[in-house]
Amino acid sequence: MSFSIHGLAVARGIAVGRAVLVASSRVNVAHYFIAEDQVPAEIDRVRVGRNAVIDEIHRLQRTISLMGPKEAPHELTALMDVHLMLLQDEELIQGVKHWIEERLYNAEWALTTQLEVIARQFDEMEDEYLRERKADLEQITEKVLAAMQGLASPMATATLRPTRKASASDSASEAAADTPLILIAHDLSPADMLQFKQSVFAGFVTDVGGRTSHTAIVARSMDIPAVVGARLSSHLIRQDDWVIVDGDAGIVIVDPSPIVLAEYEFKQRQGEIDRGRLTRLRHTPAVTLDGQKVELLANIEMPEDAAAAVSAGAVGVGLFRSEFLFMGRQGRLPDEDEQYLAYRNALEGMAGLPVTIRTVDIGSDKPLDKSSKDETHLNPALGLRAIRWCLADPDMFLTQLRAILRAAAFGRINLLVPMLAHVTEIRQTLELLDRARAQLDERGMVYGPLKLGAMIEIPAAALMLDVFLKYFDFLSIGTNDLIQYTLAIDRADESVAHLYDPLHPAVLHLVADTIARCNACSKDVSVCGEMAGDVTFTRLLLGLGLRSFSMHPSQILAVKHEVLRADAGKLASWAQAVLTSEDPAATFAG
Ligand code: PEP
Ligand code: MG
Repeated sequence: MSFSIHGLAVARGIAVGRAVLVASSRVNVAHYFIAEDQVPAEIDRVRVGRNAVIDEIHRLQRTISLMGPKEAPHELTALMDVHLMLLQDEELIQGVKHWIEERLYNAEWALTTQLEVIARQFDEMEDEYLRERKADLEQITEKVLAAMQGLASPMATATLRPTRKASASDSASEAAADTPLILIAHDLSPADMLQFKQSVFAGFVTDVGGRTSHTAIVARSMDIPAVVGARLSSHLIRQDDWVIVDGDAGIVIVDPSPIVLAEYEFKQRQGEIDRGRLTRLRHTPAVTLDGQKVELLANIEMPEDAAAAVSAGAVGVGLFRSEFLFMGRQGRLPDEDEQYLAYRNALEGMAGLPVTIRTVDIGSDKPLDKSSKDETHLNPALGLRAIRWCLADPDMFLTQLRAILRAAAFGRINLLVPMLAHVTEIRQTLELLDRARAQLDERGMVYGPLKLGAMIEIPAAALMLDVFLKYFDFLSIGTNDLIQYTLAIDRADESVAHLYDPLHPAVLHLVADTIARCNACSKDVSVCGEMAGDVTFTRLLLGLGLRSFSMHPSQILAVKHEVLRADAGKLASWAQAVLTSEDPAATFAG
């Protein structure tokens, strides 16, 4: 039966494919395609893993049988029987074989996929006792996965998650492996998303998340259609369902009719043609009709993203979210040399263009370790995040500052500090920067000059610009957080997403004022929040005097297209009308 689910549009475009349900706790499981001649070996890996668990249970049963009836708890023996029954269940065995043989999934992926299928059936059971058996099924799956860990996968030495192209065989099953896959999950952390960057998935759907949550931001950077906040999608969609992800409208259509499918496939092709046309603008300078030069910069998460930035025609990196180097490492943070190499790689990737490195912005919806939400603090977005975290751990911060300074000897680096709100934080940051230089001097190490910038993303910062203008060479407006903190709306919470409003008069005033004040004293200012890459706002920001935009590489050409069609002079009076209106959204639209 066809139905649709409405969520929040995150990353443009349309994807049509089969659903792959991944439990948030199992995103670690490797997802890759195997070649057809590896099918028997892969089925064997599951069989051997399963048999190892069965043997272990038999051993336990023998030990228990030697105990007297008093010491051998009935619950334990009953539980072992249930586990054995589940392990020998035909549906599990045949299902796993199906995913391996028909879809060429690797063994772990096949096992967890079939787990999701059976778990869903348990969820739907009326009988409470049977419903609770889902936990047993999950336990035995974990055990089989653990037992399989010791068994070398044929692909393990190649790569954990090769792309479809790299691994699809040229056999009859190629068609199966070529079917686009859509990842459906309740929640994914930003680090999980990063893992999927090189993955097999053509689209994403999550139950939770706001449009500017960091999970959504990474999805956008991957430039594949994505919808977040599509509540219950991971419950309503079944493994292997056909789904359409409309990343422009924020709609997920499940089991579409042939007519709907044809309509979306047409839209999909149209989108590809439109994008193809935009690539012609790659080398065109971003200049408005009235001759205003506009700087279009890239936001990146990893040094290797520099390649996409260059090929999209970015004139530099306006925001390197360095925290992605720190995430998903089980607390083992990158040392100075590792960071230094990463920053140098980013510089080299940009081939002489400037790179703005933001100091680590961990916390809130970007926990250090993936899938581990910050539950120790009541309001993590208001807690020890970004510069606060850095100042609370000066050694860690100094390590990063030294690495950035050393990399600056090889190209133009701007240092950007997030979440500043207090002059004391500014002073402490500058002192630590001096100390990092002194430490490098002591070691006799070479380092380069840095331009120093601050993010304006807390209303307090926007309201004390004099201080920021005094201490910094440039400012960068982080609209994602500025909106969150001005309106007291959690940017990652889909239940208040309707109140997250970039056109709220208070937000617009803070943005407009920051731009105007910087322009008045010829201080560089840019916007690096999601507003900068959203073509809906390009004309407004130009009208407010903004001449530097930083966004995902995939958004650069569409924004350039808007810039080329804009008359900045004429837009200025319209932007003032929007700004002074009681209802800016109405003036903006009208
Ligand atoms: C912002 O807040 O707008 C920003 C660019 O930083 P982040 O999205 O990483 O918090
Ligand atoms: Mg921010």
